[in-house]
Amino acid sequence: MLQGKRGLIVGIANEHSIAWGCAQAAQAAGAELALTYLNDKAKPYVEPLATQVNAAIFSALDVTNESQMEQLFAEIKQRWGRLDFLIHAVAFSPKADLQGRFIDSSGAGFAQAMDISCHSLVRLAKAAEPLMAEGGSILTMSYYGSEKVILGYGMMGPVKAALEASVRYLAAELAPQGVRVNALSPGPIKTRAASGLAHFDQLLQKNADAAPLHQLVTLEQIGSTACFLVSDQSRQIIGQVIYVDGGFNIQG
Ligand code: NAD
Repeated sequence: MLQGKRGLIVGIANEHSIAWGCAQAAQAAGAELALTYLNDKAKPYVEPLATQVNAAIFSALDVTNESQMEQLFAEIKQRWGRLDFLIHAVAFSPKADLQGRFIDSSGAGFAQAMDISCHSLVRLAKAAEPLMAEGGSILTMSYYGSEKVILGYGMMGPVKAALEASVRYLAAELAPQGVRVNALSPGPIKTRAASGLAHFDQLLQKNADAAPLHQLVTLEQIGSTACFLVSDQSRQIIGQVIYVDGGFNIQG
């Protein structure tokens, strides 16, 4: 499905990361990959995974670091001359702001969460745009807490709502040049980011019980849907939020 495609995946922390599920599936589908790691502390966990999928490019990227972003895209341009897809699977919120009531969240914490979890998609899309002159596909990761109030999701709900709106605006702006932007919205899955959420085990149980499929989503299922969404097979899908949650979101 992705034979001959070259893609950048941002957001692998370890083998439980959603971005890792996407990387494995994309490599199996024939893509050549550029992967990033957050910082020196994260590198030893991500490097063996990059080796496992034969990543052609492996670079540090903190999305708040402008010069790292410039260096990464300069390397992609120099090595590949183009980029076919970009998967953004990044989120951050200061713990105190995340675990408290939304009404108590700090302005600084909210701004940081919005910058790293939402506006970083806008910056990455802008950096990718000139490399997608022949078209491309950009995908980010959202969550149902954008739409409904989910116990324990707190400040990230409004942040994901902004992310989904950003997807629609970016999609409308980039569609004329053949660049598609979408979000994938997986059901809850145990990752490092998820471990920062209060009541997460309850959330897993609730999803397994209430989803029509009565199963939790796996990294493989998220990865294969991500591959479809960044492939040419989904070329009419633009500005959408696609749920991969066993049907949990349709349940009243
Ligand atoms: P994860 O902890 O494996 O991944 C989060 C990634 O964000 C990490 O790789 C981390 O290094 C990266 N990150 C944080 N700050 C960064 C920065 N400044 N610069 C660059 N990278 C930074 O957890 P995950 O669950 O795989 O999260 C990936 C995405 O999936 C997130 O957007 C998350 O909100 C979303 N998501 C997760 C779930 C879930 O239940 N786990 C459900 C729906 C959506």
